[in-house]
Amino acid sequence: MTKHLALLGSTGSIGRNVLDVVRQFPGRFRIMGLAAGTNIALLREQIEAFNPVKVAISTPELAGDLVQSLPAGWGERIVVGAAGNETIATLPEVDTVVSAIVGAAGLTPTMAAIEAGKDIALANKETLVMAGNLVMAAVARQRVRLLPIDSEHSAIAQALEAGRREDVSRLILTASGGPFRNKNERALWGVTPDEALAHPNWDMGAKISIDSATLMNKGLEVIEARWLFDIPVENIEVLIHPQSIVHSLVEYIDGSVVAQLGIPDMRIPIVYALSHPERLRLGLPRLNLAKAHDLQFSPPDFTRFPALQLAYQVCKRGGTLPAALNAANEVAVEAFLAKKIRFPEIALVVAESVNRLERKEAANLAAVLEADLAARMQAESVVEALQLKMQQRLAGEHNDATSSTPTP
Ligand code: MG
Repeated sequence: MTKHLALLGSTGSIGRNVLDVVRQFPGRFRIMGLAAGTNIALLREQIEAFNPVKVAISTPELAGDLVQSLPAGWGERIVVGAAGNETIATLPEVDTVVSAIVGAAGLTPTMAAIEAGKDIALANKETLVMAGNLVMAAVARQRVRLLPIDSEHSAIAQALEAGRREDVSRLILTASGGPFRNKNERALWGVTPDEALAHPNWDMGAKISIDSATLMNKGLEVIEARWLFDIPVENIEVLIHPQSIVHSLVEYIDGSVVAQLGIPDMRIPIVYALSHPERLRLGLPRLNLAKAHDLQFSPPDFTRFPALQLAYQVCKRGGTLPAALNAANEVAVEAFLAKKIRFPEIALVVAESVNRLERKEAANLAAVLEADLAARMQAESVVEALQLKMQQRLAGEHNDATSSTPTP
């Protein structure tokens, strides 16, 4: 049976991997809709290769450029912006939506897809971080399937097939530890965006690479797991595993621990999410444990990487605070990439922004989006204050230097 897919975030790292899987199994999957952000050159290639019914692009200007480069008649097949993403997510021809837009922007179209009765392959963790209670309630109400593409959650979903849900005692999410795993606290103040973007094992987009370096990515994944597997956050642990071979583990009440292993390649969780319960023969190198040398494990360091601790606290408090955490983090990561703040200040901005906000119930999508917006405003103001401080400190150093030079 052919699955008819809509792919949100088609030009990103996950999107490109999804299309590679589709290319390997042309009889199994058919692309009906694509939604991209700004990369129209790549979107144009994808349109030629997959001939979707409709595509979405972020702005009217880009839609204009795209139309120019496509055969006549394509005008009415292009939709624009957030509304365009929702159109793609709810196309009547589609049965499964792959949600791979980066950040908070992924929530609304994913929710629209669920409400329209589509199965979901979820790479956008923010959807569950921000509105896990609402999303999982909608999944149950609409009787759709939601399978994770996040590699750790795919591993847990696979390990959960080994036992009954009521016999699970702990979920253990592994984390590579990112590029700064061995840096001391002092050295972290001097790291650059380029260093933070160079992830040792995974080739990913900028946002998630920075999140991996701060361990906020793992914090968001703890919240994601809490909702996806309906397990108290107290029973979710994080383990640093630099080789990224053991993708996560489930411990059962009898002491058995079931893990999923594999080479670090996103196409494995992608194909699992798209073909479950069947498995497809992926043309990838196989894991060779005899050559994997030593696999190491250690507990995370909450002092050097406070973002992880913060995510745990926020998850426990719940309500709209996880949405606020996520939004403040998006602003902080952008500020770090723009060199407005230093690396340890990312977690600082997030903590300060969340502290300034009141916890409200995540009663509906509007309440969640309101918290998202409020947190962004708080985070912007914390970033500004930090920038001002940095300028004053630099000016102070400059003045010291001037006054210490001997005057004639
Ligand atoms: Mg992950």
